[in-house]
Amino acid sequence: MKTAVIGYPRIGALRELKFAVERYFRKDLPKEELQAIASELREEHWKIQKNNEIDFITSNDFSFYDNLLDTAVLLNIVPNRYKQLKLDVFDEYFAMARGYQGEKGDVKALSMKKWFNTNYHYMVPEIDDETEILLVGTKPFDEYVEAKNWGIETKSAIIGAFTFLKLVKFTGKKTIEDSITDIASAYSDILSKFNDLGAKWIQFDEPALVMDLSEEDIILFNKLYENILSKKNNTKVLLQTYFGDIRDCYSEVIAMPFDGIGLDFVEGKKTLEIVKSFGFPDDKILFAGIVNGKNIWKNNYSNTVDLISELGRYCKNIVLSTSCSLLHVPYTLKNENGISDDYKKRLAFAEEKLTELSELKKILSTSNPTSAAEYSENQTIFNESRNCENANVQAVVSSLSHDDFIRHPNFEKREKIQKKELKLPLLPTTTIGSFPQTPEVKANRSKYKNGSITFEQYTAFNKKKIAECIALQEKIGLDVLVHGEFERNDMVEYFGENLDGFLLTEKAWVQSYGTRCVKPPIIWGDISRSKPITIDYAVYAQSLTSKHVKGMLTGPVTILNWSFPREDISLRDCAFQIALAIRDEVLDLEANGIKIIQIDEAALREKLPLRKSDWYSEYLNWAIPAFRFVHSGVKPETQIHTHMCYSEFADIIKDIDDMDADVITFEAARSDLSIIETLKEYGFKREVGPGVYDIHSPRIPSISEIKEALFKMLEKIPKEKLWVNPDCGLKTRRYEETVPSLENLVAAAKDVRKSISA
Ligand code: GLN
Ligand code: ZN
Repeated sequence: MKTAVIGYPRIGALRELKFAVERYFRKDLPKEELQAIASELREEHWKIQKNNEIDFITSNDFSFYDNLLDTAVLLNIVPNRYKQLKLDVFDEYFAMARGYQGEKGDVKALSMKKWFNTNYHYMVPEIDDETEILLVGTKPFDEYVEAKNWGIETKSAIIGAFTFLKLVKFTGKKTIEDSITDIASAYSDILSKFNDLGAKWIQFDEPALVMDLSEEDIILFNKLYENILSKKNNTKVLLQTYFGDIRDCYSEVIAMPFDGIGLDFVEGKKTLEIVKSFGFPDDKILFAGIVNGKNIWKNNYSNTVDLISELGRYCKNIVLSTSCSLLHVPYTLKNENGISDDYKKRLAFAEEKLTELSELKKILSTSNPTSAAEYSENQTIFNESRNCENANVQAVVSSLSHDDFIRHPNFEKREKIQKKELKLPLLPTTTIGSFPQTPEVKANRSKYKNGSITFEQYTAFNKKKIAECIALQEKIGLDVLVHGEFERNDMVEYFGENLDGFLLTEKAWVQSYGTRCVKPPIIWGDISRSKPITIDYAVYAQSLTSKHVKGMLTGPVTILNWSFPREDISLRDCAFQIALAIRDEVLDLEANGIKIIQIDEAALREKLPLRKSDWYSEYLNWAIPAFRFVHSGVKPETQIHTHMCYSEFADIIKDIDDMDADVITFEAARSDLSIIETLKEYGFKREVGPGVYDIHSPRIPSISEIKEALFKMLEKIPKEKLWVNPDCGLKTRRYEETVPSLENLVAAAKDVRKSISA
């Protein structure tokens, strides 16, 4: 039995790549040094896998920013507006990723979207009518050779042609149809090149195959791979799928001349059933994804051994693999000094998952797997109780009834009451919550964490920052203020730290986009709130101004989605437990005089099941009620906001409406305002603040460009309903960008206000 890994995280166990790339952005690190750091990281990651005797190690899973962007560049898919900047290829790449503003021009970044049902974001490549699709890059080949020079034969992972075409945006007249021949020939050139290099395997990642597929999709898939594989020679091809099962195309896939097929047995609910009913060809290898690439719990060897032995009845050749790339889990438990072994023994991050693969390989190679020492050790852990229950919380969750989810009176009535109560101008301006997390803000938190300052010193600093932030917002002229979130490392981890039931990590970072990482807390047990969390700072901020300050909370669905969830209770029960805690926080804020409360559900869209048939039964049927429950107890005059990121709302607009918030702010700047159309078509009645500029880029939007966005919005949204705000929190930006951007935002709002009330 052999083992494989679909991909390994690349940011570095201590986020070395992040820091190096950011130094490069600040012109504080020469390109050559950045490349040297990248190369050391790749070497380290390959060698760790080698040491764990992984048989199929991946290359080209590295990226300076994003793999889909790498693939676009590899294939010459670079829009002219970036080429015209005449930057070197390295900087042109970063210009596509982050936008460019400098002496050579002013260009926005490509759009960014969530990678399937994960919190990883990819850059959306654009094909226009001038795009000439051609294999021009060398990255995968260079990295293959680099590994080979270390004595490591790798399979290069390339995002497959089908998935690539499904995710690309066509901005001109050309369609997918027009690109099939060129894309297929570029991919077959990739294959030939690897063949010339003597590569044994190549991996085409095709996660798009786990979505609902139409007949046209299947025809497209067939056409592409008939072409690509026609030049197949000695290099073997692994078709790698993940994030679900491929029920819509399994029979087509196994009929094609792939040498290996990677299937996900963790998230693929029907994978086993499909293999059992259709069989698996004897001349192919099944790469069985059995070690969870998305969650951090130790693998239960008993379940895995049973599964593999059952599979053995249907397939001759099985390789043990991860369910998806390990990009979505943190590096290693080794750096977690604050977690005791009692907890650690139940967890596995990327490196520990490699050990699991090698232990499973050993166990499954013996004639009697259940008698292997590694097997019984593993079973001992799973037989012990985890001590993580709270009977009280469980009782409340199970007693919830219909009325607990309904806020009175209805939105139309509340809106009138709130307009009177809050007395806001037309087109109220606001921000999404966080202000720049400067080095001193981060230092204050870490000094408090490591005990070098007292709680009083820590809070005094935060209060000083809050006071500055309120003064700054007043000076800029914003209408609804925020306290700035200086006490929060992250919108989810902060609540994790302050609620009972979470396990916090120190270095367990996971890449979210580009150089940005998040550190999801682990939901260990039943969740409860033992004390108020945000009230003090909120009340303090409100005491400093006569303008309204928004109370700022993270919603239950987002807390759940951006944590590593338990696997021993349902996501629904877990979401309701969190909702119970956040509801208490909402009521406390209200009781302390906070009139506007924002409950962020940044991640609501992200975990929408990939298949439509699962949307309600597996997700929306509890996610929307969990949010409603959080605010159903407030007074009519209290205004509830929610905020969402990267919203592709069109398909769940009714459910978003059903959250029953009063105001909703969301990302729109990067998606060409297409959401506005959706709101209009649906007849959305809530007040809305579609982001007028993109905060994920350092570029400063001009007054005229913000005005233009606002006028566009006003064509579809009644003026009484429109808010003006950036598209997300400002914590990743610097003040140098934030202040002029917000000044321009306020100036634009004032101008537009004048012209519409004139
Ligand atoms: N209130 C949060 C902030 O401003 C929201 C962040 C987010 O949506 N990701 O940082
Ligand atoms: Zn956001």
